[in-house]
Amino acid sequence: MILDRFRLDGRVALVTGGNRGIGRALAIALAQAGADIALLDRTHPTRTVADIEATGRRALVVPGDLATAGPDELADAVHAVVTGLGGLHILVNNAGIIRRAVAVAHPAEDWDAVLRVNLNAVFHLSQAAGRIMLDQGHGKIVNIASMLSYQGGIRVPSYTAAKHAVVGLTRALANEWAAAGVNVNAIAPGYVATDNTAPLREDPDRERAIRERIPAGRWGAPDDLTGAIVFLASDAAHYVHGVVVPVDGGWLAR
Ligand code: NDP
Repeated sequence: MILDRFRLDGRVALVTGGNRGIGRALAIALAQAGADIALLDRTHPTRTVADIEATGRRALVVPGDLATAGPDELADAVHAVVTGLGGLHILVNNAGIIRRAVAVAHPAEDWDAVLRVNLNAVFHLSQAAGRIMLDQGHGKIVNIASMLSYQGGIRVPSYTAAKHAVVGLTRALANEWAAAGVNVNAIAPGYVATDNTAPLREDPDRERAIRERIPAGRWGAPDDLTGAIVFLASDAAHYVHGVVVPVDGGWLAR
């Protein structure tokens, strides 16, 4: 039955940045679809753990700061998931930060932090998870990209550079790993109302200008992304490799 292919029963998913915003919604949706969930977070994600457990699935918190963790520490985090929940089938590289500054005034430490969290950690976690997934002959990796994987953005050069690179990395890994049964894809959210975009919504003129530019006529909510994540994490997507699914209210179509 087709709907059975969307179920994630018996799967283990690792989600980064599940404490709030989009990552929290994605983690809960994956649990609702049947997966046990590991959360790699720098802040203990108490509410998300409670909501996952309310679905009847297991939740495991793996403490970690993606801005400082190196490849070995991230590989240890992946192995802690396998030890704690008995396997790893899905990796969602969601955690991300943004630093707003014009290019000529962009502090070097902000550039480094954005690249570490938004790109380097995506690679190192994918590498560690990929080794496990290649050995077992199946796995799903979903990277959270952005509209700024395609556009230049305004005063966010480090974020834009990292999100462009995430799409390149998604395609590179998909190309290497598709034949071994590992799917690597991405989701490109549009403007979603989270803490990340709060500064844009504090200015009523800016908020309205963005809203009016979105064909759907409203900002996205974290839950708008849950259908795409369950699809890409499931067997229903077994022949889908290296794509970026825009979930943006039509922003890129305009
Ligand atoms: P939020 O700022 O609301 O949440 C970010 C999450 O990432 C938090 O859980 C945060 O943890 C975690 N995080 C941040 N830094 C680190 C770190 N160093 N180590 C571990 N975890 C960390 O962002 P969104 O939910 O809006 O964004 C999620 C993803 O979606 C990001 O990759 C973002 O770039 C992308 N995106 C968002 C869009 C939007 O409009 N909101 C649009 C396009 C893409 P903590 O709670 O501890 O800070």
